[in-house]
Amino acid sequence: MLRLPDRAFYYIIMEQHHLNEEGSRPVIYDGVAIKIYADMDPSRILVRFTDGITAYNMIKKARIAGKGQMNNEISAMLAGHLERGGVRTPFIRMVSADSQLCTKTDIIPIEMIVRNVIAGSMARRLGIEEGIRPENTIYDLCYKSNDLGDPLINDHHAVALGLVTYAELREMYSMTEKINSILLPLFKGIGIDLVDFKVEFGRLPDGSLMLADHITPDNARFWDIRTGERLDKDRFRRDMGKVGDAYREIYSRLLAVSPFFEKGLHEECGVFAVYGVPDAANLTYYGLHALQHRGQEGCGIVSANDAGVLKRVKGEGLVTEVFNEDKLSGLRGNMAIGHVRYSTTGGGGIENVQPFLFRHNTGDFALAHNGNLVNSAPLRKYLENRGSLFQSTSDSEILAHLIKKDSVNKPRIFAIVDALNMIEGAFAFIIMTSNRIYACRDKYGLRPLSIGRLGDGYVLSSETCAFDVIGAEFVRDVEPGEIITIDSHGIRSRRYSEYRRNAMCAMEYVYFARPDSDIEGRNVHSFRKESGRLLFEEAPADADIVVGVPDSSLSAAMGYSEASGLPYEMGLIKNKYIGRTFIQPSQSMREKGVRMKLSAVKTIVKGKRVVLIDDSIVRGTTSRRIVTMLREAGASEVHLRIASPPIKMPCFYGVDISTYDELLCARRSVEEACRAIGADSLAFLSEGALYKAGRRSDLCLACFNGNYPTDLYQAVEEANKDGKF
Ligand code: SF4
Repeated sequence: MLRLPDRAFYYIIMEQHHLNEEGSRPVIYDGVAIKIYADMDPSRILVRFTDGITAYNMIKKARIAGKGQMNNEISAMLAGHLERGGVRTPFIRMVSADSQLCTKTDIIPIEMIVRNVIAGSMARRLGIEEGIRPENTIYDLCYKSNDLGDPLINDHHAVALGLVTYAELREMYSMTEKINSILLPLFKGIGIDLVDFKVEFGRLPDGSLMLADHITPDNARFWDIRTGERLDKDRFRRDMGKVGDAYREIYSRLLAVSPFFEKGLHEECGVFAVYGVPDAANLTYYGLHALQHRGQEGCGIVSANDAGVLKRVKGEGLVTEVFNEDKLSGLRGNMAIGHVRYSTTGGGGIENVQPFLFRHNTGDFALAHNGNLVNSAPLRKYLENRGSLFQSTSDSEILAHLIKKDSVNKPRIFAIVDALNMIEGAFAFIIMTSNRIYACRDKYGLRPLSIGRLGDGYVLSSETCAFDVIGAEFVRDVEPGEIITIDSHGIRSRRYSEYRRNAMCAMEYVYFARPDSDIEGRNVHSFRKESGRLLFEEAPADADIVVGVPDSSLSAAMGYSEASGLPYEMGLIKNKYIGRTFIQPSQSMREKGVRMKLSAVKTIVKGKRVVLIDDSIVRGTTSRRIVTMLREAGASEVHLRIASPPIKMPCFYGVDISTYDELLCARRSVEEACRAIGADSLAFLSEGALYKAGRRSDLCLACFNGNYPTDLYQAVEEANKDGKF
């Protein structure tokens, strides 16, 4: 896991500044319809779409309620389509309902106008009727200059002005044509004529060009093909009726053909190990495959052969993509450890893919980690001052350096115990040397790790579902604060800490883990089903059918249905194959990747009052889209019930929800959140119900209530200064 807590806090503080109108985040551009803020990462910007609208050189101005949010969503959906069509866009991810994180470019002051149908200024200039369709698409260039009023120019003017080179212009034309060739049929498919639109381009530090613009109804003309109705900014310019309704129309039609963005909540790793079983690497491959849901960005296996030589294969992508028979056959021996990872912003790249492999004069060792350390910054500084060189930006490597620093003077187990006592946070570590495997969990019990038996050997896994796949038998969980050693003497146990809690991450039960896994003795499906039953008891809804959001909410929906007596229906279907698009060749593409695609089943939901069950709400974007989709499929009412409490706080333990302003419920009441989502009613499960469903008295619920089980070190004081907590 890679998110460094100091950075995370800093990011939150910055984010909060940025998102407050009166905050201190530097404003780069302050327009009527868009505001651009600097980001802590100089290669990025935060773009906020506002409700402001203007026409006739600012003579006419207004605010259209909800326009900013609509433009944010529309531009994000279009960026998704363009990226899939091979066009690089600035969009990185949505940050809040009305803002998105984007790549910063050095903008070229040329606006390229694409005209598929003659309208607006061109019709006036040529003295012809709007609506004439030229034989070929027309591309106009405008020189972006406030002093000159953005005059029309040609290619030679642009080069003579020193704005671009001819080669760059050729590339801009080619990209613009491509954009048009993607968007034109896309809009046609939803009954909308893409009449014209404007785009700008920017240079990246390496000199390459990238689209630097957002396409929205503010800067494009969209006409309804059937009625000819204007659905864009002309609606405002020419007083043609409700502007918000027109934008909403585009938004909802696009919604039906746009894949969903990521849910916004990611577990960041799974670990697996085999000791004392032939072809350990092959078994690890199958184990990692069963843990693939915990991370799809990269994976690796280190094996130890009979001579104790450690060998590693790792790569970016799915387990099935990184490994083939050839690669696996090179990983010999009866010991292996493996890792699947999900990487967050700034932490991608092959160097961060685990297991890490360390060469040391006291013996080589490999290490794999799930979770996050909260004191990585001071430890990293301490180690670097002592001469440690880090291979990666992942804080998992810190433990390895701590172990290495003391291994010369004492047996490795003591070095491990001391190292574990220096780190703070959430972790499940597996360490493999030439002849033994060590495994440990943090003393708070935040991350899961289980032990299984296979023949004469042992296996370790983040989740028990991987045991079934390889035919292993569950033995027990590694206890919080325990280190187990597995070698030719069998299993030995010792504690590295006297302190102990059983604060398992509640989101493991609610969302991350596979339903066929057991976490600390409680089956995940059973937990979710029970949470659904309790959700009905706490928040009954007057409805006709129960529909769950596939896949992680289906168990809770079953429970709600059973308890309420309402029929459970497959009102939403997930396209299982869309997930492949998540694996893309670059980090920026992965950040924009698509996790799932849902369709509402019209014949099931039409005319029905639907209780929609989801496991959690992070940004609310997905929920809003699903509610809209159900309404468009004919649902007469949509009552949203969430099988967990509102997520209000960031997680510092390895779950990617650390940007405060991403969270829909961080500063909204349930009523406000309901309005933002557009549901008829909204209710959440209580914290008490999570304990009941888990049949346990301790859990980490920090993202719901802010009671972090660990210290958060100096960063929390910094955060407190900002009044965040
Ligand atoms: S803060 Fe939330 S997501 Fe993070 S470990 Fe705790 S329960 Fe899990």
